[in-house]
Amino acid sequence: SPKFVIDGLRASIEDKEILKGLSLKINGGEVHAIMGPNGTGKSTLASALMGHPKYEVTDGSVTLDGEDVLEMAVDERARAGLFLAMQYPSEIAGVTNSDFLRSAINARRGEGNEISLIKFIRQMEGKMKDLEMNTEFAHRYLNEGFSGGEKKRNEILQMMMLEPRLVILDEIDSGLDIDALRIVADGVNAIRSEERGFLIITHYQRLLNYIKPDYVHVMMQGRIVKSGGPELAERLEAEGYDWIKEELGIVD
Ligand code: ADP
Ligand code: MG
Ligand code: MG
Repeated sequence: SPKFVIDGLRASIEDKEILKGLSLKINGGEVHAIMGPNGTGKSTLASALMGHPKYEVTDGSVTLDGEDVLEMAVDERARAGLFLAMQYPSEIAGVTNSDFLRSAINARRGEGNEISLIKFIRQMEGKMKDLEMNTEFAHRYLNEGFSGGEKKRNEILQMMMLEPRLVILDEIDSGLDIDALRIVADGVNAIRSEERGFLIITHYQRLLNYIKPDYVHVMMQGRIVKSGGPELAERLEAEGYDWIKEELGIVD
């Protein structure tokens, strides 16, 4: 089962340091939640882990099963099993959802091990049904004209099809009504296993009622300042972040 280790990660955008020495270990089978105020660097962490070129990593290390993730190109990270469901998925005109998914799966499976078209379609349609998505979405251009909720379901469809080893969900709950939230959470819970770890970034405790985390971390000013179990998320929901700032003497 996978072992994902972030150690002392620092990253900047346009010469402004956002991640200031962040460390975290995720083993296969574990669900870790990161909560934190807006602007604290949660999405920056997700993007830096995936190798987004806008973010410059200046220090620290990231490994998956001992392999240096920071040395990998973006597509190599995906092939190694890193998956990010984005807070704001982009629209790609001219590429259908189904074509995109099949190339992503085949890239992940590697040459000589491509999925057959029949099997792909059967799997995709099965998972779309689980996510209560209309199968016409398969033939639409990627995310183009999708509503916020449809985009999020589509991210989860990709996650379910790709069988990742480390799943990062960035505010997958934002913009979802309660029914869509339940469907998305069921999709995540269905693929929980020893074969993969999860990093769930959220602003609200609500999501964690549906996807029960093993660990909850609080992120502030570019690092993890406190870790605990699910009870930590409940306290944040009830009391906000001020008590942590006071406890740690953080001034902002
Ligand atoms: P969070 O996801 O926790 O709300 P972000 O990672 O999105 O926080 O942002 C962290 C900080 O980085 C914020 O101060 C934000 O303004 C800044 N930032 C994020 N993206 C950019 C960008 N493309 N250009 C400049 N600053 C950015
Ligand atoms: Mg934000
Ligand atoms: Mg964010």
